[in-house]
Amino acid sequence: MSLSQSITNAKQFDDKDPLAKFRNEFYLKTNTFYMDGNSLGLLSKRAEFTLLQSLEDWKHHGIDGWTEGQQPWFYMAENLGEMTSHLIGAHPSETMITGSITTNLHQMLATFFKPSGHKTKILADSLTFPSDIYALQSQLELHGLSPETHLIQVPSQNGRTLLEDDIIEAIDETVALILLPSVLYRSGQLLDIERLTKAAHDHGAMIGLDLAHSIGAIPHSLHEWNVDFAVWCTYKYLNSGPGGVGGLFVHENHLGRRPGLAGWFSSKKEVQFDMSHTLTPAETAGAYQIGTPHIFSMAPLIGALDIMNEAGIENIRKKSLSLTRYLINLVEENLLEDGFVITNPTEDTRRGGHVCLEHDEAARICKALKQEGVIPDFRAPNVIRLAPIALYSSYEDVYYVVEILKSIMREKTYQQFSNKRNVIA
Ligand SMILES: *Cc1c(COP(=O)(O)O)cnc(C)c1O
Repeated sequence: MSLSQSITNAKQFDDKDPLAKFRNEFYLKTNTFYMDGNSLGLLSKRAEFTLLQSLEDWKHHGIDGWTEGQQPWFYMAENLGEMTSHLIGAHPSETMITGSITTNLHQMLATFFKPSGHKTKILADSLTFPSDIYALQSQLELHGLSPETHLIQVPSQNGRTLLEDDIIEAIDETVALILLPSVLYRSGQLLDIERLTKAAHDHGAMIGLDLAHSIGAIPHSLHEWNVDFAVWCTYKYLNSGPGGVGGLFVHENHLGRRPGLAGWFSSKKEVQFDMSHTLTPAETAGAYQIGTPHIFSMAPLIGALDIMNEAGIENIRKKSLSLTRYLINLVEENLLEDGFVITNPTEDTRRGGHVCLEHDEAARICKALKQEGVIPDFRAPNVIRLAPIALYSSYEDVYYVVEILKSIMREKTYQQFSNKRNVIA
């Protein structure tokens, strides 16, 4: 394929893209190709606006901002939960914006992990994000159980992906709770959640999910699938900004269960300010909040979700699949001879929102990419993740990323850098 033909193709795809209009709402730098929206999504004008609104509310209303502002702070988490529920296939009452993945995971485990009799183990996988594993280990220790014997981590046969069959095989009658990612953070593998949830319940185990790499990229049906709980962050595909407040889902079947970690924001809102020493928990997922919400880390999410709901999660998934398909095709046509290996599953039903490339020189290839205006994501020791984002990436971006990668390899410009990772990678 000649260069002019290809760029013409990319431009045609962009012309036909029904989501293209949203790109203008984001702060993108010229001559920069941002492929790291799965680590930190970009700022949109709507998110900036709703953050500034909350600052204005503070300026003008002081304490009364809690109830009188343009976006009253007292109800912001509940309102955001409702706005998020469409993205995960949940009822508004099951969805709450609060905490972070790790703190919400602690809350969910404190609430739902009740080892008793022979049912005392937690099952996870061997490829999951470290913070999730640390949380599981410390919760086991709080119950006086050794992670060595009570945390089962299902192995991966190829070091990159998991087999649902292996996970199901590992669920026995001693497993009380299962925690899995919907999409694996390195390889981008999408697990069959519906099937895994059925298997968990067949063995009387609860199942919780970490949606870090699927929320905002992929539709979910958590309620219908009977998933017991889920946690997520909002600074990746949801574009709420660094440290943006995360979220949790608790299935309707479990609402009313007392929060394992209680605080005054766990209260039913009507009685919270009675200041009673006996907690009356909310009857919704709001019961799993703890303390005062971090308003300024939450307010940008109002604008960010507004865009996302306007675009529609089904349309977002469709474009995301098409962008990553285009990227995979270009890599296959142009980069395999340079030693790149595509290690994400390539079927539409099994891949998330990013493409995972492995290369022995990955660390310094990423440094060379940055020098050329491409923002990739490096994971030690040899992984380059590239995430074209449906709301703000174009097919032309994808085309140029591959062209730049090609020239870095052909001209060996990556060799001027050391093959070591930076502090944040
Ligand atoms: C990003 C990410 C986290 C981060 O957790 P925080 O508590 O938000 O810092 C945890 N788990 C997974 C799978 C992630 O991708």
